[in-house]
Amino acid sequence: MLSFQSLTVAYTGSPVIDELNLDIQDGAVVALLGANGAGKSTLLRTASGLLAPRAGRVQLDGQDLTSVAVENRVRLGLAQVPEGRSVVTELSVDENLHLGGLWRYRDRSDRNAAVDQMYEMFEPLWRRRMSLGHELSGGERQMLSLARALISEPRVLLLDEPSLGLAPRVVAQLMTLLRETADRTGLTVLLAEQNVTSALSIADRGVVLGLGEIVVDAPAADLAADPALRQAYLGF
Ligand code: ATP
Repeated sequence: MLSFQSLTVAYTGSPVIDELNLDIQDGAVVALLGANGAGKSTLLRTASGLLAPRAGRVQLDGQDLTSVAVENRVRLGLAQVPEGRSVVTELSVDENLHLGGLWRYRDRSDRNAAVDQMYEMFEPLWRRRMSLGHELSGGERQMLSLARALISEPRVLLLDEPSLGLAPRVVAQLMTLLRETADRTGLTVLLAEQNVTSALSIADRGVVLGLGEIVVDAPAADLAADPALRQAYLGF
């Protein structure tokens, strides 16, 4: 279980996340929602270790991660797909994937098998395997970022706005892939999204942040179906 306990995060001055408590069960897909500036990215960056909290803790299976460095959190199974994508633009798709699997699979044949598995999941990447990162479309880059994160077989995937700049059809594909991966592997997903409808369509649970606090925590289906809740907390 991924757990945030009395978490307070600030850049300068007043906290952006204020004494937040949130438990995420293994295998759950949680949509993290809220207006621009609500603190979604801040929460994800604190979970992955890019930001240190001012107070409180992040725990994975009861282990306090506060003093665990980013790369060691990755080893413990936390993978972040950052906003803006993590593709190395001068390398090919294939090289990017091998790089992503490098620390996880010492043995080259194991790594090759893991890369092949990603091509099975992300069919368009197979067709583009010799293309350089900068030659890819936005959707292809986002897929590659996701594949780079998944190749290390994380337990928890932290995703920041994966739908940003993508065509609706590509967004739908990505979301379906995420849901299928969670169902198949027991992956836990924390998905920060402005694209509320897409996120709620695959999530088990919707958590809405407002001014650094959780203002709603409800089953995703309830949030999606209840016009009053949507209007009050999501603005549509
Ligand atoms: P968005 O969807 O726009 O990314 P968000 O919900 O992810 O919004 P954050 O990016 O976490 O929100 O930002 C929360 C608050 O923290 C905002 O008021 C923002 O201006 C502030 N903030 C974010 N990054 C920094 C930073 N590096 N330095 C100072 N303040 C920051």
